[in-house]
Parts: sequence; C-alpha cells; structure tokens
Amino acid sequence: MRIHVDSEKCQGHNRCKALAPDLFELDDFGYASAAADGSVAPGMEEKARLAVNNCPEFAIEIVEE
Ligand code: SF4
Repeated sequence: MRIHVDSEKCQGHNRCKALAPDLFELDDFGYASAAADGSVAPGMEEKARLAVNNCPEFAIEIVEE
C-alpha cells in the first residue's frame, strides 16, 4: 500500500500528520506530502485509512499494490 497527497487539493489542515505522523511530511507552510516514497509499512494501514478519512479536502489517496 502507498499513499499519495494531491498538492492541488491539500489546504494544510495537518490532520493527516496529527493522526499518522510517520506517514506524512509537512512543508514550511503546513502543506502535506507523503513521507519518503509514500510506502505504508506493515501495521500502518489503519492509520493511513484514518488519515484518508479525516482529510477534509479528500486530498489523500491510497494506492493498493
Ligand atoms: S489533512 Fe488533507 S488537507 Fe490537511 S494537510 Fe493533510 S492532506 Fe492536506
């Protein structure tokens, strides 16, 4: 599983980072991107889904591999 943040949609609420800090990075303005290459480590899938479901902009996508 991988996550991807659509930078066009992200508004920098930081909910994703608060819910799954290992999976997201923030830039200087608070906009999020996937940490590293977006890979979700085993055991982190639920946190990834939690972040997706709590993003008010629907900016986070899960890519199943
Ligand atoms: S919760 Fe959504 S809109 Fe907010 S920083 Fe994360 S990806 Fe961006």
